[in-house]
Amino acid sequence: MERDDADLETGIERVALRLARARRMLAVTGAGVSAESGMPTYRGLGGLYQDRETEAGMPIEEVLSGPTLARDPILCWRYLAEIGRAVSGCRPNDAHRALAGFEDLLEVVVLTQNVDGFHRQAGSTRVIDLHGDCHRLLCLACPGRREVADYRDLAEVPPRCPACGGVERPDVVLFEEPLPLEKTWELRSELRQGFDVYLSIGTSSLFSYITRPFHDARQEGRFTVEVNPGPTSLSEVVDVRLVGKAGSVLPRLLERVRDLRNPPGENPSAGD
Ligand code: NAD
Ligand code: ZN
Repeated sequence: MERDDADLETGIERVALRLARARRMLAVTGAGVSAESGMPTYRGLGGLYQDRETEAGMPIEEVLSGPTLARDPILCWRYLAEIGRAVSGCRPNDAHRALAGFEDLLEVVVLTQNVDGFHRQAGSTRVIDLHGDCHRLLCLACPGRREVADYRDLAEVPPRCPACGGVERPDVVLFEEPLPLEKTWELRSELRQGFDVYLSIGTSSLFSYITRPFHDARQEGRFTVEVNPGPTSLSEVVDVRLVGKAGSVLPRLLERVRDLRNPPGENPSAGD
């Protein structure tokens, strides 16, 4: 066994032992958890974020912003639709499914920065999607809202409200827009209750509202873990780093925690 594999094995065992006794877990996820679904991560978004400049000569952060949506919805929607179509062509992966599977064993709250909706699709029931979900469309002119399963089925771009014909927007947080208040309250209330294990998965951990819970947890002596093939700003903060891809690490972790919680031969429903 290579040293890295041995480190990963040891790390998974340490985290599994904790999770086997834990009552509540917080899983904070970013673009990396959807990478194995084929969703490009932030910097790799098909050159979109990578090149930084759009065809309109504006940085992508400016095009995908609240002010641009208000001023020039056609331009903003050109890039929104690109993201939406990328999501529509992808499905949840083993990492999303493993996180949903943990709910059979303990209380799990998923805090995600992703807008792809894959955690709920995979079966997670307590998801705080801080940046929204691109499958929900809101009318800019009336209170109308609807779900769109697949962006490739949109009759026109920008899409229009079936009720009043107004331009719609996806229910996501664009650049220069604030986080939705009710979701930050929900998060604060969950954090106040505390967790036994804090997992950071596939996020470069750039925002303070993403890193803060880990710094606080560390100070309070709670157990913190990072799952990421590369280093991030949290790598030196967490108790255990699981250096690997979420789609292989999380299923292994789930299997081990299941074994520890239900040791073979102790199945209460077996026999009579
Ligand atoms: P990021 O692109 O900045 O960082 C991705 C992280 O994932 C990196 O640290 C990388 O090492 C890691 N990673 C790559 N492959 C991985 C894998 N297989 N398993 C585990 N980790 C892996 O992403 P971010 O921190 O989420 O910030 C990006 C912003 O862009 C967020 O605000 C998010 O809303 C948005 N975004 C969303 C999606 C989506 O909805 N799927 C995709 C791209 C960007
Ligand atoms: Zn409307």
